[in-house]
Amino acid sequence: EIDGVVVKIDNIDLQEMLGYDAKAPKWAIAFKFKPAKAETILRGVEFSVGRQGTITPTAVFDPVFLAGARITRATLHNFDEVERLDLRINDTIIVERSGEVIPKVVEVVKEKRNKDAKPILPPTHCPVCGFKLFKSLDRVALRCVNISCPAIVKGALKHFVSRNAFNIEGLGEEIIERFYSLGYVKSFVDIFKIKEKKEELYKLERFGEKSVNNLINSIENSKNIEFYRFIYSLGIPFVGEETARLLAENFENVEKLFYVKKEELEKIYGIGDVVAESITEYFNNKENISLINDLLSLGIVLKYNKLEKFTDLPIMGKKIV
Ligand code: ZN
Repeated sequence: EIDGVVVKIDNIDLQEMLGYDAKAPKWAIAFKFKPAKAETILRGVEFSVGRQGTITPTAVFDPVFLAGARITRATLHNFDEVERLDLRINDTIIVERSGEVIPKVVEVVKEKRNKDAKPILPPTHCPVCGFKLFKSLDRVALRCVNISCPAIVKGALKHFVSRNAFNIEGLGEEIIERFYSLGYVKSFVDIFKIKEKKEELYKLERFGEKSVNNLINSIENSKNIEFYRFIYSLGIPFVGEETARLLAENFENVEKLFYVKKEELEKIYGIGDVVAESITEYFNNKENISLINDLLSLGIVLKYNKLEKFTDLPIMGKKIV
């Protein structure tokens, strides 16, 4: 399935002459098909807690078939969106989806609103841990600020072991859930202590000796990690892979980050005000520094310069056309 067409000028000289504006080439233009739409009934709104504590509402509705898929849910991003749409339970809603794009609730059909339409109230307490929720000044979202909230801890752990972070094979989201509820893994540090629980793991369902050993091996192997992946794995708010790479390029080692100043970060092209603030806040927190030191003392080795070892390879530095 295609979601539209792009018309381009097929002459490189003309393309260069026309050039680019800030976002896109002036020599190409995209025409998108109208997204597929369907009418359905909103049955409920669920609230989930992300790894930064952010509460995200999700609309749950009667199944609709859109762009080749059966859809029953769509994210509403934040509570402001619920208010903007003036959404109520049992409302008739229009859901939209184009190609591979995630489904979206675009509007409420107000003429079809019944007496049984129920208003949706913002949650006052975390649906997972029950802590009171706060709305932070710089973010639209409601947040759970309980650092021990199971949703936040599990979210952070899942991020830590994910493909672009420590990339620990055999320690997927499902296993994290299990190990967390069994009390084996409650923090990053616990992951590297799993090997001490070998005997207990053997007794678990679907955990033979072989899979336990494989898991322990992949945890051990993950200990040699590129600096930027390590930064990314920490889950600092607003620090994605790109920003983690920028930090790794601009700081000699992790200790240099311990004393980072906001002004220093703002000089780095690609790091904005909010991100700089968030990074400084993270490294100003002594608990985070001791977490990093704990990880390093467990034998985690940060690879700072990937090219260092490869200075005398036979074709290094040669240009081949
Ligand atoms: Zn919570």
